[in-house]
Amino acid sequence: MSAAEAATWIASARSMVVLTGAGVSTESGIPDFRGPDGVWTRDPRAERLSNIGYYIADPSVRREAWQRRLDHPAWGAEPNAAHRALAALEVAGRLELLITQNIDGLHLAAGSSSERLVEIHGSIRESACLSCGDRRPMPETLDRVRAGDPDPACLACGGMLKSATVSFGQNLDPVLLARCDEASANCDFFLAIGTGLSVYPVARLPETALAAGARLVIVNAEPTPLDFEAHAVLRGRAGEILPALVEAVVGYRRGA
Ligand code: NAD
Repeated sequence: MSAAEAATWIASARSMVVLTGAGVSTESGIPDFRGPDGVWTRDPRAERLSNIGYYIADPSVRREAWQRRLDHPAWGAEPNAAHRALAALEVAGRLELLITQNIDGLHLAAGSSSERLVEIHGSIRESACLSCGDRRPMPETLDRVRAGDPDPACLACGGMLKSATVSFGQNLDPVLLARCDEASANCDFFLAIGTGLSVYPVARLPETALAAGARLVIVNAEPTPLDFEAHAVLRGRAGEILPALVEAVVGYRRGA
C-alpha cells in the first residue's frame, strides 16, 4: 500500500476522522513516552509523574512535575510537516474531526481550527485546579515556580494545581469523549498517526470505526496492536508520510 493508494481512499471518503499521538510531535523535538527514545523507555520512574494518585499523594512528585513543566520541550517546539499537512487537509474540507492525545498545542499552532480539534488529553498550555477547576495560562503559573514556589497553590481556592492535562487515573471529559465516539462511529475513513494505540479509552476509537464499517489506515514508526485489522499500515515517519498523503489528495506542497 502506497501513500498514493491510501490517498484515493481519503479522496473518496464521506467522513474522515484522524487520531494523532505522541509520534506526530517527535519530529518537533518532543519525545514520545513508549518509542525507542521515549521518556518512559529511558526513565521508567518518570511514569509516576503522569499518575494522578502519586501526584496527589506525594509532594516530591508534584515538585518534580513542576520542574519538568518548566523545561518541557513544548515551549520551544514548532509544528512539523505532519501537523501542517493535517491543517491543510482541514482547509481542503477533507476532515470531519482531528482527535489528538497530545498536550503540546502544536495542531493549533499549525493552523488546525479548534472547531474540528479535540485535545482529548488536555493541554499543557494551561494550569488547572484539582479542587475548583480554576484555569490560568500556564506561563503565569510557571512564573510562580520560577519565582521560588516549588508547588504553587490555586490562587482562587488554595487547592492543588497541575497542568490542564489528563493524567493516568483521571477521567476524560465525557462530552469530548462522546464527540469522539460519535465521529468515529459515523466516519467511513479513520487515520491513526503516531500512536501506539495502547492508551484506553482513546485506543478504542479506531475499533469503533472498524466495527461501523470504516476503513482504517495506520501511520506509525512501529507495529501497533491494531495493525492486523487495519486496511493499510504505512510504516515510517509521520513528517514524511503525511505530506505525501495529503499532497496526493489536495495538491498540498510540503512547507506550504
Ligand atoms: P506512545 O508514546 O505510546 O506511542 C507513540 C508512537 O509513535 C510509538 O509507537 C512510536 O513508534 C511512534 N512514533 C514516534 N515517532 C514517530 C514518527 N516520527 N512518525 C511516526 N510514528 C512515530 O504515544 P501515544 O500513543 O500518543 O500515548 C502516550 C500518551 O502520552 C498520550 O496519552 C499523550 O497524551 C501523552 N504524550 C503526549 C506528548 C505530546 O503532547 N507531544 C508526548 C509524549 C506523551
